[in-house]
Amino acid sequence: MVIILIGTNSPNNTYWPTRPYVFQGGKHQGECLEILMFNNYAFLNWLLNKIESEYRFGREKNELHKHLEWLLKQGENRCVQLFCSSCNSQPAVFASIYGSGRYGYSISSNYLSCSDQNCLEDLRINADNCNVFIKLCFSNILWFSRKNDQKQFVDLLKETFNIPKRITRKSAFDFFIS
Ligand SMILES: [Zn+2]
Repeated sequence: MVIILIGTNSPNNTYWPTRPYVFQGGKHQGECLEILMFNNYAFLNWLLNKIESEYRFGREKNELHKHLEWLLKQGENRCVQLFCSSCNSQPAVFASIYGSGRYGYSISSNYLSCSDQNCLEDLRINADNCNVFIKLCFSNILWFSRKNDQKQFVDLLKETFNIPKRITRKSAFDFFIS
């Protein structure tokens, strides 16, 4: 009997690492993917795009490819540990940020919202309609062009996900695997 696995149970989607990925050689030798999620997300995003552009369909993906795919996906679905500043009962989903790409943004955990329209509206009025709502996930680090804004947003992610300011390979891995 042949068993065919379809969808999320297919072997291609069941990659689940047991340890953080550390580069064993090359320019990034000794660097850990899980830590780079915080310190250099742009590089990981670039690297996955590069690997995917060179990947031939049907070939076995290497460990780096599989780990990167898994890790970037995990960065989009982490559970926020802080509550909405408006209703105070639902976990926050968005941060309301204020400023401009040119002069920088004011980013703080005092202005978080769940996805309820009333809560979003509250924060919008609070900011004189000059705010931007940004989802609390890692890919949005790239939404900011200024390095300082990216750093502020990473600090906000650490705070909302309740991650210590000083991360280690283990604490970073534990966060993404949970
Ligand atoms: Zn709310």
